[in-house]
Amino acid sequence: MRMYDLIMKKRNGEALTSEEVQYMITGYVEGNIPDYQMSAFLMAVYFKGMSQEETLSMTQAVAHSGDMVDLSEIEGFKIDKHSTGGVGDKTTLIIAPIVAACGVKVAKMSGRGLGHTGGTVDKLESIPGLETSLDQKRFFEVVNKTGVCVIGQSGNLAPADKKLYALRDVTATVDSIPLIAVSIMSKKLAAGNDGILLDVKTGSGAFMKTVEDSIALAKEMVLIGENAGKKTVALITDMDIPLGHNIGNSLEIIEAVETLKGNGPSDLTEVCLQLAANMLFLAQKGSIEECLHMAKEAIRTGAALERLIAMVEAQGGDASVIRDTDTFAKAPFNHPVLAAKSGYITSMDAERCGIASAMLGAGRETKESTLDYTAGIILSGKTGDYVKEGQLIATLFASDERLFASAEKRYLEAVEIGEEKPKTKPLIYARVTRDTVETLF
Ligand code: URA
Repeated sequence: MRMYDLIMKKRNGEALTSEEVQYMITGYVEGNIPDYQMSAFLMAVYFKGMSQEETLSMTQAVAHSGDMVDLSEIEGFKIDKHSTGGVGDKTTLIIAPIVAACGVKVAKMSGRGLGHTGGTVDKLESIPGLETSLDQKRFFEVVNKTGVCVIGQSGNLAPADKKLYALRDVTATVDSIPLIAVSIMSKKLAAGNDGILLDVKTGSGAFMKTVEDSIALAKEMVLIGENAGKKTVALITDMDIPLGHNIGNSLEIIEAVETLKGNGPSDLTEVCLQLAANMLFLAQKGSIEECLHMAKEAIRTGAALERLIAMVEAQGGDASVIRDTDTFAKAPFNHPVLAAKSGYITSMDAERCGIASAMLGAGRETKESTLDYTAGIILSGKTGDYVKEGQLIATLFASDERLFASAEKRYLEAVEIGEEKPKTKPLIYARVTRDTVETLF
């Protein structure tokens, strides 16, 4: 077999066999296939796409390029959840404890922040002492004890994806639906869970800017999951504006705790309840309505918050900051952002909001950057709200006052104020299963 022929096959719009895909991924990981040939192949996929069978073969090959986690030491159904990334997306911190409180195990590997989007692992590490790099034995012990554990991805999970992703990043081939599906699902298959709930974000702060593209990506990923023997469902959720009010690591933990206490913002609470209900549904806990009721009860009774506290303690964290979020370290400086004119907030560009938060220290500029866990933004006004000139629309938090001027400028570029009240957009656009696309708008 020759990589040259495989590139030509794809360039001509033909599908590779699973043997050919396996040859290509193995050769690439082992260094026998150079980056320039793989780049040519990726660009051919970008234009010609991949068949369903080909996408599944490539996902399996990428998943098997490293460790395949065996979760069989954890009893019961194990459910995973993946978000395609967003701004203010602290849903894992809320959903995982809810689902665990309802009796379904969550053994989850999460990521760090990427670009304008935050990462669950970074947020968790803002809790003093909390460890996110547990070895497998301890990971399993925590899940068996508390029902939930969230750690960082192990070093050897889908190494082919790491190499491919870095190449896509510099060859303009990131935004290819089959390549994104392969990348995400290979890590999900390697993580070893029985079911996968996908939260595919759509809008200005998401990878997929339109609902149509988000549904196409969701369909592709659900089919991969189901064909690999995992129960898989996707929800298409809004990321046109940030989720909730808090952006930034410890600020998002605080908002997650408030939501688990039943005091969360309505958008965040609703999205989390729907995601949690779908995870419970995949674990065969009942109909969606029954599962939704269970999720609400887990919040009402405080059982979900107790699970979060138990998980934080089991991962070595200081749970006193969860019990009383006022004790979380605070940024030494804050800066009010005021509305430049009166009117309705007609739009907020979530990506720009995320960048403004990162500029304050909540995100990384380079791989080596250290995060300021206390930095970020609290939004006082969101799309649809009427504001008066000079009214507070956001508060910026940082450890260095000099960061405020440029972050404020970026934030104000994100927010448009106009005379007409904008139409309310749905929080959840669609639910995608193996056989159906239920549009909910
Ligand atoms: N997230 C991933 O893990 N991979 C992609 O290709 C895009 C988003």
